[in-house]
Amino acid sequence: MRIVIVGAGPAGTLLACYLAGRGHRVDVYERRADPRLLDEDESRSINLGLSARGIKALTDVGLMDRLRPLTVPMRGRAIHLPGGGAPFQPYGAHEGEILHSVLRRDLITALVDHAEARPGVTFHFRHRLVGLDRDAAAVHLVHEETGERSTVAGDAVIGADGAFSQVRAHMQHGLRADHHQEFLPWGYKELTIPVADDGSARTRLEALHVWPGENALIVAHPNRDNSLTGTLFLPVERFGEITDPEGFFRERFPDALDLMPHLAKEYAEHPVGHLVSIRTSPWHYRGRVALIGDACHAVYPFYGQGMNSALEDCTVLDRCLGDHPENPAAAFAEYQRLRKPHTDVLDELSRQNFVELRDRLRSPLHLARKKADLLLARLFPGRWMPIYTMVSHTTVPYADALARARRQDALLRGVAAAAAVAGLAAAVPLLARLARGVPHARAFR
Ligand code: FAD
Repeated sequence: MRIVIVGAGPAGTLLACYLAGRGHRVDVYERRADPRLLDEDESRSINLGLSARGIKALTDVGLMDRLRPLTVPMRGRAIHLPGGGAPFQPYGAHEGEILHSVLRRDLITALVDHAEARPGVTFHFRHRLVGLDRDAAAVHLVHEETGERSTVAGDAVIGADGAFSQVRAHMQHGLRADHHQEFLPWGYKELTIPVADDGSARTRLEALHVWPGENALIVAHPNRDNSLTGTLFLPVERFGEITDPEGFFRERFPDALDLMPHLAKEYAEHPVGHLVSIRTSPWHYRGRVALIGDACHAVYPFYGQGMNSALEDCTVLDRCLGDHPENPAAAFAEYQRLRKPHTDVLDELSRQNFVELRDRLRSPLHLARKKADLLLARLFPGRWMPIYTMVSHTTVPYADALARARRQDALLRGVAAAAAVAGLAAAVPLLARLARGVPHARAFR
């Protein structure tokens, strides 16, 4: 088939690799410039946490070994407390359960290079989709510099053009389509923790740093050059109200202020980003058009799964196309059937994790609960898995992970009740017996 992909983000570029592997001819149209031609200042690059689902997909297409040296491992969270101190909370119960921080630009560049090296894949940068003929699988494009218009037809069009997908808008136009779009009342601004004068990192590098707070929250990912990129989350209207960011930080995040010498300048210059969640249906149209990634399920970024789930979409769509090589309509329908229940759950989990990061992370009860979860995971390997482990360190489908976590929670509550009545010693064997009864979670193939 000749497949037209719109959008060269993580999803579009990875899908190009998968499709080329099946012998399809692929043309990718992207409105932005080729990231390989931009210097660092021109291509604003955020960093993203890569976890098991993304790693599996990148391994499938043979890219992970090349990409790994471009990432920084994050072994857990460093939680900065208001009174000082930053206790470290490991991500997993086992060695290897870690996340990898990668610059979006590095990831996309590696994917574009990798896809282009395969026969039949061509990237067309600076081409913006402005229209779609869904029955003819034809896209109408405008060149961003010259304004030249063109139309390209394929056998199928894949919309990988992000949360505000134009492919989705044109594909669903006039159909009985469901669409739920919701902006979080909070937005974000990026702030850097630069390298120290001697070139070292100003704070522990191999961790995701979190400054929790009810009305303001900071998360920082490490970079390979020993800097970290912080993201300040605030209710959107607060950004404008804060006229003295250093004073605000001194009061709310004093230890972060010490790490951010360019705070005032960056606060004034960096734009406020907005966070949107999207649930929509259908994801496809008559074997001619399908959506992947944020185009069909954008989530708030607090579980670090938006990109990972977009990459996992490609794994699932590729498998469906392999199962129905002559029938893209059946492949697309199967893909939505397999995938949507899980990305709907991811939406729910991402909302919950916002509340966890903002309100619960500092609570001693919550920290104790996290420790108990990790202890149980060590005591009953494979039988007890914290939900964070299932979501971030396995490819257990999201809805299965949530269902299993709920069973574990019910169990724990039962054991706590037993301990209250009969004492802890009586509760431990009960827990062991019950944990054996929690079935193994299945991973996506
Ligand atoms: P996008 O990345 O949005 O790519 C879409 C592409 O389509 C873009 O290149 C765009 O230029 C192009 N495009 C759009 N319209 C057109 C058009 N009309 N014509 C041609 N091209 C077009 N996810 C994680 O997994 N881990 C994280 O740690 C993480 N952190 C995040 C932090 C923040 C602050 C935010 C906002 C998001 C974060 N995410 C994270 C989510 C992640 O960035 C997205 O889920 C991911 O980028 C989705 O990939 P995509 O390819 O579907 O869409």
